[in-house]
Amino acid sequence: MPGARRDGGPTPMPHAARRVAVVGAGAAGLAAARELLRDGHAVRVFEKSSRAGGTWAYDPRADDDAGPLLGRDPGAVHSSMYASLRTNLPRELMGFSGFPLAGRAFAGDPRTFPGHREILAFLHAFAEESGVAKHVRFRTEVIRVAPLLRQGTSEQWTVEWRGEDGAVAEEVFDAIVVCTGHCTVPLVPKIRGIDKWQGKQVHSHNYRVPEPYRYYFPFLDLDGFTVDDNRVGPLYKHVFPPKYAPNLSFIGLPSKSIVFQSFELEAKWVVAVLSGRVTLPSEEDMLAAVLKDYRRMEEAGTPKRHTHVLWPEWVEYFNWLADQVGEPHLEARRYEMYEKAIKCILSLDESYRDRWDEQEKQWAS
Ligand code: FAD
Repeated sequence: MPGARRDGGPTPMPHAARRVAVVGAGAAGLAAARELLRDGHAVRVFEKSSRAGGTWAYDPRADDDAGPLLGRDPGAVHSSMYASLRTNLPRELMGFSGFPLAGRAFAGDPRTFPGHREILAFLHAFAEESGVAKHVRFRTEVIRVAPLLRQGTSEQWTVEWRGEDGAVAEEVFDAIVVCTGHCTVPLVPKIRGIDKWQGKQVHSHNYRVPEPYRYYFPFLDLDGFTVDDNRVGPLYKHVFPPKYAPNLSFIGLPSKSIVFQSFELEAKWVVAVLSGRVTLPSEEDMLAAVLKDYRRMEEAGTPKRHTHVLWPEWVEYFNWLADQVGEPHLEARRYEMYEKAIKCILSLDESYRDRWDEQEKQWAS
């Protein structure tokens, strides 16, 4: 039948291909670029470092802690990985659909909780095999993103970047997807009396221990959009700023969930909206929904800085996104596996990784 999908699914409505800039080639940026390419959009991924993988690209250097503390050049070293780091989630929870991490070793480390090199190799293989790699412009730091002009309903955006040689260039896009991560700029706690401490102050970003860190978008030149006490907003469902939707979106802000799967669901939602298959509520309705969420948090006594922490209500978010894009709800097995991993992580008993496989076998028998 003309126009029907080969898999027998509903025939997608034709849509105009958009020129989309993705900022960042970490796991979120790679997932976003794959979905955009699948839907026929023209994609350019800007990555300031020399390789894809973002925080999984281990860097033995550490920032001078005085930098972030004094506001100097935060994030000069992107990765917070430490040399011996192993994943805190089992590999089954760290793949992408159609490209699992389970059942295949990418850097010779088949353990259920592999070291960081395995994840980096997985992400590089994903970038190559999905065709995203050739759309990434490395050593290119985005230094300014701003709305440009309106042509009918289609807003355009200017992206300014600095290349390896220091030269600044500019290009116009129809849409921007921000995927710059949030584990780079330390969230330095205010501790009474810390100024009296004579020793060196080292943040865990530089000590190489995992911890949620500060959201930081120095390149965004926008009105009415802020990062306040680690709340990025206003953002509808952590993704779309109502005033700039749908042509500006963020992927990868929420923490404490099955991270790679949440990137993929968010990416699918963004692409479905950009392609016109899914319609967002009006700007006013999105803003009202965001304010309602803020009120709900306040009533529950949740600190503002935890706005993007999904746990323990992460499943609702996953299933809401799945509904938007017509995907099945989260499988019970994945839910149970994640909840078990979180309990192990919170128990601060590092040895759970080595007991995991044995326990899984016992429960299966
Ligand atoms: P990132 O990986 O941070 O990627 C962002 C990219 O954007 C980087 O490549 C950066 O160079 C680029 N960028 C930033 N600014 C610019 C700019 N202006 N211009 C161009 N490029 C730019 N998750 C799990 O699922 N399992 C785990 O076991 C796990 N362990 C973790 C351990 C540690 C120590 C840390 C820090 C995190 C861990 N995470 C884990 C969470 C991890 O953050 C996610 O897995 C994921 O890698 C984040 O991907 P991202 O693309 O959002 O951000």
